[in-house]
Amino acid sequence: MALHQEQVDTSPKISDEIKYTTCYMCACRCGIKVHLTNGQVRYIEGNPDHPVNKGVLCAKGSSGIMQHLSPARLSAPLKRTGPRGSGEFEEISWEEAFEIATGWLSDIRATDPRKLAFFTGRDQSQSLTAFWATKFGTLNHAAHGGFCSVNMAAAGLYTIGGSFWEFGEPDWEHTRYFMMFGVAEDHDSNPIKSGLGKLKTRENTKYVSINPVRTGYSAIADEWIGIRPGTDGLFVMALIHELLRAQRVDLDFLIRYTNAPWLVRIQPGHPENGLFLRDQEGNPLCWEKSKDRPVNALLPDIAPELSGIFELPDGTMARPAFEIMAMRYLEQQYSAVEVAEKTGIPASTIKRIAAELAHAAFEQEIELDVEWTDWAGRKHDKMVGRPVSMHAMRGISAHSNGFQTCRAIHLLQMLLGSIDCPGGFRYKSPFPRPCPPGPKPTGKPGQVKAGKPMPGPPLGFINGPEDLLVNEDGSPCRIDKGFSWEHPFSAHGLMHMVIHNAWAGDPYPVDTLFLYMANMAWNSSMNSKGTMDMLTAVDEATGEYKIPHIIYSDAYASEMVSYADLVLPDTTYLERWDCVSLLDRPISTAHGPADSIRQPVVQPDRDVRPFQDVLIELGARLGLPAFSNEDGSATYPGGYPDYLVNHERMPGIGPLAGWRGADGDQHGKGEPNPNQLERYVENGCFWKQDLPDSQLYYKHANKDYLICPQHGFHTQCQSDRDAALQRTLTTIQTGGSGPRRNSATRGTA
Ligand code: SF4
Repeated sequence: MALHQEQVDTSPKISDEIKYTTCYMCACRCGIKVHLTNGQVRYIEGNPDHPVNKGVLCAKGSSGIMQHLSPARLSAPLKRTGPRGSGEFEEISWEEAFEIATGWLSDIRATDPRKLAFFTGRDQSQSLTAFWATKFGTLNHAAHGGFCSVNMAAAGLYTIGGSFWEFGEPDWEHTRYFMMFGVAEDHDSNPIKSGLGKLKTRENTKYVSINPVRTGYSAIADEWIGIRPGTDGLFVMALIHELLRAQRVDLDFLIRYTNAPWLVRIQPGHPENGLFLRDQEGNPLCWEKSKDRPVNALLPDIAPELSGIFELPDGTMARPAFEIMAMRYLEQQYSAVEVAEKTGIPASTIKRIAAELAHAAFEQEIELDVEWTDWAGRKHDKMVGRPVSMHAMRGISAHSNGFQTCRAIHLLQMLLGSIDCPGGFRYKSPFPRPCPPGPKPTGKPGQVKAGKPMPGPPLGFINGPEDLLVNEDGSPCRIDKGFSWEHPFSAHGLMHMVIHNAWAGDPYPVDTLFLYMANMAWNSSMNSKGTMDMLTAVDEATGEYKIPHIIYSDAYASEMVSYADLVLPDTTYLERWDCVSLLDRPISTAHGPADSIRQPVVQPDRDVRPFQDVLIELGARLGLPAFSNEDGSATYPGGYPDYLVNHERMPGIGPLAGWRGADGDQHGKGEPNPNQLERYVENGCFWKQDLPDSQLYYKHANKDYLICPQHGFHTQCQSDRDAALQRTLTTIQTGGSGPRRNSATRGTA
C-alpha cells in the first residue's frame, strides 16, 4: 500500500520583487528587505548584509506592514473648519496649504522670528530640521529629546566625549563582565540582542541586569538586580565607594587619559576657588612629582600627583581633581551599608559586585597583538584591555538625576580603565567628540533678527554661564526656557514645556506652533486633558486662540491632528527618500562609520507628501538662504533626494558620506555625485567603511584614528589638524571645578 506523503513548501514564493530600505519602527534603523507582490507590500525581512542588524528583525520591524497600511493614514492636506478639537476639516490642495503656511510664516520672519516654535518628534532628519530653523531665524526649535533620554547622551558627551544610546557599544567579542542598566527593547534593540547572544555563548562571562522589572533582557541575565526605581545612581556611587576603598582603580588610565591629575584651586574667597588651575596660555596644570612644582598637564610623559595639597607660587593652595572626587565618594553616605536600604540591594551584593568588577578588570586583563600609535606618537605593540563593559538607557534617563546617574556610570568606567579598550565600552565613529562638546547654542539677544538667519544652530552644549541663552535681566530667551538658569544643560530643549509656555505667554507668546510627528495632545505631554485645554484656550481680549496658529505634519490621524489649523499629511516610511546621516545620528559601529538611506519602495496612493520635501519647498517659498537662490528659484527643486545629493554643509561634506565625488570614488569627503542615491540602492541602501585594526580601540587617544588624512569620514578629517588633536578623552569633573573655560584634555597638543 502506498503511503501518502504530505508535501510542505517551507520556502513559498511570497513576492515578485524585493526592495531594500531602512526600518523606521524604532530608533535602531535596521536594514530591511521589503517583499512586494503586484507592487503591494507583502512581507518585511531583515537584510543579512546590513551592519546594524545583520538580518535580524524584531516583531516591531515585521509589523511595519501594519503601519504602512494603517486605516488611520491621512490622505490629503486639511484646513480646520470647526472649533479646535472638533475634528472638522476640509480637504484642500497642496497649493492652498503652502499659501496658508507661507502667509503665517513670512509675517513672523519679517517681524519677530521667535514667534515660530518649530518642534519635531522622533524624526530622523534633525540635521535638516535644525538647519531649516537656523535659516528661518528662530531659536525656538528642538526635537523630542528633552523629555526622552538626551540627558544621558549629554552626560556622556560632557564626560567621555561619547555616550551609550546607539553612539557606543560594548566590545561584545571580548567583554567578560557586562552590566546593563534600565534597558528595554530600544536603543539599541537588535544589536543588543545579537551581542547578548555572543556574550552568552562564550565561556567565563557574566551578564548582570540592573532593572526594577524582570524584562526579557533580565530574564536571560546571569544575575538580575531588581533595584528600587530611580536609585541606579546611588548604587553606582556605592560601587565607586567600594572600589576606591579597596584601592582597586586604574591610576595609569586616569593619569594618561583623564583630567584626574589637574589641579583645582582650594582657596575659599578666591575668585577662582574650585576652578581648574591654568597657566597663562590657558593650559591646565598638574603637580609634577619629579619637579615638585606645577607643569602643563597636557604634556606627554609626565608623572603627576593624584593626591595631596600643594602650595602655589602665589601662596594659594590646590589639590588634584582625583583627590577631591575620591574624598567625596569615600564619604560614609555612599558606603554599601548606607545605600542598601534606599536601593533595595543588600550591602553584601553591592560589595560582591564591586569585587567582581575589579576582578574582571584587573585579574582578567586581555591583550591583542595589534600595534597602535598614541596621540603623542608613541608606538605600542599590544592593545591591552580591561574586559568590563556597561550599557544604560531610558530606565535611568527617565528620572530626575538621569544626567548625574549617567555621569556616575561613565566615571565608574573610567576608574576601571574600561573605555574604548578591548573588552570595554567602545565609541562608534565619529565619536569621541571634543569634550566638553560643542557647538554652543545660538539665540542670545542680538542673534535673532527679523528677516535674517541665525548665525548658528539653536541647539548645542553650554560650557559656562556665558553660554546661556538669557536676556540681560536673566530671563530665558527660548519659549521652552532651554539653556536658561532654570534648565542650563537642556541639550535638546524642553519640547514638553512648549505648549504650556506658549499658552501662558511665559516668557512670551508665540504666533505659530509648527509640529512634526509629535502627538503632543495625547501621548507625550503627561497631561492630555490639560494640554488639550491649552490648545483650545482663547484670549479674552482678542477672542483668538492663545496659540493663534498650529501647523501639524503627521502621516496618521493622531489626536494632535484634531487640534491643528493646518494639517500637512506625511507619507509612511516605505514611501519616501530619507537619510540616516553622519551629520545626525549615524548607524556606525565600533568597527567603522556607516550611514544609510530609505527609498520609496512603493508610491503613495494618497495626496500626501514627504515632510522633508514640504519643508524644503516651504524654505524656498519663504526665500530662506540655502533653500532659495538669489533669483528666487528653489535651490533643491527635486526636494529631499535633490538635497541629499547636492547639499554641502561644508565643502565636500554632505548628508551622505558614501560614493562622493563626480565619479563616486570618494568616501566621507568629496564633491556631490549625481548618482549617489543609485549607488546606495545598489548596495542595499547603506554605506559602511571598516577601520583598520590599528584604529579599533583607544579612539580617544589613537593618533591614526584622530588624524587620518586618507579617510574623509572621521570628523577630525573634516577640520584641521589642531582641531583634530583636541578630540581626546576627558574628564572627571568634581564639584565646583567645572569647565568655565575650555577644558581640553590631556593629550591636547
Ligand atoms: S529593532 Fe527597531 S529598527 Fe530594528 S527591526 Fe526592530 S523596530 Fe525595526
